[in-house]
Amino acid sequence: MEKLWEWQQLRQQYWRKQESLKKNPAVIALRKEKQEIAEAELVLKEQEEKLGKLQGRARKVGDQHRETADKAKRLEAKLYAGETNNPKDLLSIQHQVETFQEEAARLAEEKARLIAEITRLQQEMAVYRRHLKERRESYREKLAIYNREKEQAELQLAILMGQIMELTEEIPLEILAHYQELEQRFPQSALARLEGKMCSACRVEISALAIRELKKGQGLVHCENCGRILFR
Ligand SMILES: [Zn+2]
Repeated sequence: MEKLWEWQQLRQQYWRKQESLKKNPAVIALRKEKQEIAEAELVLKEQEEKLGKLQGRARKVGDQHRETADKAKRLEAKLYAGETNNPKDLLSIQHQVETFQEEAARLAEEKARLIAEITRLQQEMAVYRRHLKERRESYREKLAIYNREKEQAELQLAILMGQIMELTEEIPLEILAHYQELEQRFPQSALARLEGKMCSACRVEISALAIRELKKGQGLVHCENCGRILFR
C-alpha cells in the first residue's frame, strides 16, 4: 500500500506538471507577440507599397516638370529669335510661355511636396523597422527561453514517468486493476490514508470495525463514505 500511495503521488505530480506545461501563460504571451509582429510586418509592407507609389509619382511629376520647363524655354527663345514681328503672334507666344512657366512652377511645387512626403515616410519606416527588429529579437529570446524550459519540463516528465513505470511493476496486478476501476470516480486519488480516525480524502470518520480490519492488514478496506481504498 505504501508503494501504491507513492505511485499515486508520483502520478499526481506528473499530472500537475503536465497541466502546468499545457497552461503555461508564456505560450499565450508568445502567440500574441507573434501575431503582433505579423501585423507590424503587414503595416511595413503597406508603407513600402505607399512609398513605391509616391516615388513613381514623384518621378512622373519630375519628368513633366522638365518637359514643361523645356517647352517654356524653347518658346521663349523663339520669342527673342526675331522669327516673327507680328505683334499678335508675339503676344500669343508670350502668353504660351507664361502658361508653361506657371505649369512648370506648379509641377515643381508638387514635386517638392512629394519629396517631402517621401522623406517623412522613409523616416517613419526607419523607426518602424527598428522597432520591428527589436520586437523580433525579443520574441526570439523569449521563445528560446520557453523552449529550454519546456525541454526541461519534458525531461522531468519523462523521469517521473520512468519512476511511475518502475513502481507499477511492484504493485500487485489485482490491486492495480481495482485501483484503476475506482479511478474513474476518483481521478489520481482512489487511495486515501487513515488520518487519526478519518479518511484523508473525504474527512469522514471510519468505523472501528473497518479500522480493525485495516490494522490486520489483510485484504482491501474501503472508506465507508466515499468508497476509496484506505491504507494506514
Ligand atoms: Zn473517504
